[in-house]
Amino acid sequence: MDRLRKLVRPNIRTLDPYSSARDEFTGEASVFLDANENSFGSPLNKQLNRYPDPYQRDVKKKIAEIKNVSESRIFLGNGSDEAIDLLLRVFCRPGRDNVIICPPTYGMYSVSADINDVEIRNAPLDAGFDIVEDRISDCVDEDSKILFLCSPNNPTGNLLSRNKILDTVKSFPGIVVVDEAYVDFAEGESMLGDIGKFENLVVLQTFSKAWGLAGLRVGMAFGDDQVIELLNRVKPPYNINSLAQKEILSALGRVQAVKESINRILVARERLRASLAKLSATEEIFRSSANFLLVRLSKADEIYDFLVEKGVIVRNRSNILLCEGCLRITVGTPIENRKLLSALKEFDS
Ligand SMILES: *Cc1c(COP(=O)(O)O)cnc(C)c1O
Repeated sequence: MDRLRKLVRPNIRTLDPYSSARDEFTGEASVFLDANENSFGSPLNKQLNRYPDPYQRDVKKKIAEIKNVSESRIFLGNGSDEAIDLLLRVFCRPGRDNVIICPPTYGMYSVSADINDVEIRNAPLDAGFDIVEDRISDCVDEDSKILFLCSPNNPTGNLLSRNKILDTVKSFPGIVVVDEAYVDFAEGESMLGDIGKFENLVVLQTFSKAWGLAGLRVGMAFGDDQVIELLNRVKPPYNINSLAQKEILSALGRVQAVKESINRILVARERLRASLAKLSATEEIFRSSANFLLVRLSKADEIYDFLVEKGVIVRNRSNILLCEGCLRITVGTPIENRKLLSALKEFDS
């Protein structure tokens, strides 16, 4: 209890949050004249004249069911990127506190930290792309507030060792964020089941990858009730719009379709891996628990440019620590993968 309180920025601890019309009255009524909405409707005729539920209760109820977590431990953001920013704003005093990241990893942690004027400390992954606990503890001081881990990691594709994550959650004095954007593609277990055991553990998931809904911008943060309450205080009141809530709710009713789509992607990924392995430019294809492959190629930069000329865009990671000479390739449809491969073969010959 006390530990979390101490981690929170003092101005957030004492914040008197904005109270929206939908906060102050939540019951059933027939006449709503409290939010200055246009009671006559909209030109679109879809009931969009009303503000959305600020706490997305229907959506959370369904997520709670599917993921077996209580609603009070769920936060929804405008993408998980919003949750990353809000966590920084809740816990990190600008110009004073620091966060720790384990490169090579997702770029938003450091961009968000920079925007919030929060120092970034690097504890690089080892050659097998796993975390090194000593490197993390060497970075820690009394102003270390958040450690960002990403598992399966972007751009390397591997799961971090579960035991090392757990050890780190136990020893790290601040919040440990485990970003599981790709966990639906992974064979390993999510950290979601550990939320109740550690008040400093926050797990991020998203509808942008396996669920195929990147355009809706909805991400999830799971954590201790107190952390979720803090995120709710700081977020813009209506951060998930009505259309997004409605569509997410429908998608949550189609779990089976999502599972099938994941399986198709996994099959396509292994086919792509086999084809890439045959190219003479391919030096190494890293193991993946995600919907992309990290591939080390001779002449990665040239290949990247050649692919761009052919209208095929992959992610050039060749100048990133431990990813030297690597491209990150998202698994596409069979047709897309064929286009990619035929361009690569043309370069190869
Ligand atoms: C794609 C991705 C996200 C998703 O962010 P959204 O804002 O939810 O779209 C988060 N973390 C990682 C590591 C990602 O690769």
